[in-house]
Amino acid sequence: MIGAGTMGNGIAHVFAMNGFSVSMIDISPEALEKGMANIGKNLDRMVKKELLTEAEKQTTLGRIKTLTSIPDGVKGADLIVEAATENINLKLDIFRELDKSAPAHALLASNTSSISITRIASVTQRPEKVIGMHFMNPVPVMKLIEVIRGYATSDEVTHTIMDLSKTLGKVPVEVHDYPGFVANRILMPMINEAIYTLFEGVAGVEEIDTVMKLGMAHPMGPLQLADFIGLDVCLSILRVLHDGFGQPKYAPCPLLVNMVTAGKLGAKSGEGFYVYTPGTKEVVVSPAFG
Ligand code: NAD
Repeated sequence: MIGAGTMGNGIAHVFAMNGFSVSMIDISPEALEKGMANIGKNLDRMVKKELLTEAEKQTTLGRIKTLTSIPDGVKGADLIVEAATENINLKLDIFRELDKSAPAHALLASNTSSISITRIASVTQRPEKVIGMHFMNPVPVMKLIEVIRGYATSDEVTHTIMDLSKTLGKVPVEVHDYPGFVANRILMPMINEAIYTLFEGVAGVEEIDTVMKLGMAHPMGPLQLADFIGLDVCLSILRVLHDGFGQPKYAPCPLLVNMVTAGKLGAKSGEGFYVYTPGTKEVVVSPAFG
């Protein structure tokens, strides 16, 4: 597992719980420590809900070791799943390194939300063994894995990853490698349209979210979902769609651009369409839209 952040520790948790030995690698020792603590916390929650015994929790934790060096960590690996920071140059460097250090038979998967798998595969000598495994957050809870075939990914590798995803208790869906894959290609334009609806004064924040929650049975309104994903992340994925397809329908709403420029990134910065008070569950509409 490359990366011990939000997604990396969740993915490590799921593999370890299903019997796999995992090396979790991160350049940051603090991220590794936090990642392991988070896995422990999530396993505790499962023990409390009687989904797991205390002994199973200990066995699961025992299957995960942490390291800061890729060459040491990937020796003997059959599969490497990368969930490092979403930055193309960083990911290309990581895949060059993985290609050099991992055993020749090892499959290389990326959890990227928006970077082309074909592009990532192109820096390796094994493009047929490179694939997308797009887990959803929170990983231990969410059932879906978008399995993304790059241009050169082989049928055999795709079948292996589809079967493996089922072994992890997930539901894999096979998709081709085009901007945004399926999940973000549909989700991000919906979020962008919700922001345009607000920007054009058609309705307020709560009204827009209420329409989608109660009218379309969405568990969360699109504006609040955008806050949780991170407005900077939404903007960057919209830019990938806009650049990749060259169609104006993907152009990010100017309000989204302004909010990101102003540092209003959603829940993680304390304010987006709503204001979040740390340590509480209190959420109120931002005064900017009051
Ligand atoms: P994060 O910032 O929580 O974690 C990224 C981790 O990568 C950090 O701990 C960082 O130290 C580490 N890292 C950076 N450079 C590294 C390197 N060279 N080697 C090893 N580790 C390195 O990010 P995240 O939210 O977990 O996202 C990770 C990936 O998953 C991204 O590609 C993102 O697009 C994708 N993703 C995120 C979500 C989500 O909801 N957060 C959902 C699906 C996919």
